[in-house]
Amino acid sequence: MQLIQGSKMIRPSKRVQVFQDSIFGIMSKKANEHNAINLSQGFPDFDGPDFVKEYALEAIKDGKNQYSPFPGIIELRESVSQYLKSYYDLDYCKEGEVSICCGATEGIFLSILSIINPGDEVIVFEPFYDSYISSIQVAGGIPKVVTLNSPDFSFTPEDLENVYSSQVKAIILNNPHNPTGRVFTSSELKIVRDFCLKYDLMAISDEVYEFLTFDKEEHIPLASLEGMQERTLGIYSAGKTFGLTGWKIGWVCAPERLSSGLRKLHQYITFCVSTPMQYALARSLMHLKDYVPTFKEDYQSKRDLFYSGMKEIGFDFKKPEGTYFMMVPIHQITKMSDVDFAYHLIEKKRVAAIPPSAFYLKSREGEKFLRFCFAKKEETLLEALKFLKELQV
Ligand code: PMP
Ligand code: GLN
Repeated sequence: MQLIQGSKMIRPSKRVQVFQDSIFGIMSKKANEHNAINLSQGFPDFDGPDFVKEYALEAIKDGKNQYSPFPGIIELRESVSQYLKSYYDLDYCKEGEVSICCGATEGIFLSILSIINPGDEVIVFEPFYDSYISSIQVAGGIPKVVTLNSPDFSFTPEDLENVYSSQVKAIILNNPHNPTGRVFTSSELKIVRDFCLKYDLMAISDEVYEFLTFDKEEHIPLASLEGMQERTLGIYSAGKTFGLTGWKIGWVCAPERLSSGLRKLHQYITFCVSTPMQYALARSLMHLKDYVPTFKEDYQSKRDLFYSGMKEIGFDFKKPEGTYFMMVPIHQITKMSDVDFAYHLIEKKRVAAIPPSAFYLKSREGEKFLRFCFAKKEETLLEALKFLKELQV
């Protein structure tokens, strides 16, 4: 197509000009080009459960194929509100406080855009999930970054106090945490709670890996801490819970005033999400008690397999407590930066990982790690380990 020479009009808005391509798209494309084993972008290389897919087929055949109400079908909102009650003793009213959206990604965008005014500051921990920063930028907000302290990726009350100003309006917490695999302790959650109460802040709590906690770790929603439910927007994802990332359905649970704000945006961004898939999920969520234990066991054995393989190769780090990611320190093995080493691995060892400097804004810590996704078949993980083993020599 011919470009219009010299036009000052035919160009994207300033709003989008600040964005870069997402690291997930870049690395998956590169992995495909080199026919590498893709442990970069976070998605399973195996299918989700049959019962969920059967429910979807039934819903389609049953004619559930037109627009749904914009906050989501009431059956799904009811199932969400029931599991949050039974797992965490949280009470969310299905009518006014649960909103169905197009994956957690839309939930994050809606939450941020519906509470942040231009000039407001938002506290974000780094390494962060990349869409937080873009969503804050679209809202005209300013990210105030707290770097998690490696090697254990912890934080202290002082870390939060150091970035506080009277412009701060909200804090974003992701727990269990992508990319570090941390499940924050109840003391760390209390630090966030005390900070929010002290300065009257809102919290955006990204809990998409709520059911991916290992060993004795249990997920604690931020909203379940005293004083937090009325100021928290909790974000969840069916894509993670059922290993069906392409379904792109999530939910935001928040007090009615905040929910009504984000629904106003949602009605003009997507209006509603796929109706038959919502019916399928409404039924599937009723089986969580049977489904989740095996789901966790499967992922825990993948974690153990990949972790012990990586330790044998010579990578020294703590076992992740949750999610399906590992932040693996690379400086013991190479002098290269994360980006150079990631490209080297794809090209020379046919294994793709994410260079996590894309998840840092303030510090250069990310250059010392690579993020590997272990949501893969055993054979995929074993093959990747076989290629990585050659690094020892
Ligand atoms: N938050 C985090 C921390 C994630 O890792 C992801 C991953 N994909 C998302 C949000 C987005 O979830 P979804 O695919 O449901 O939009
Ligand atoms: N959440 C996934 C990850 O962390 C990727 C999601 C995406 O590609 N947008 O890798």
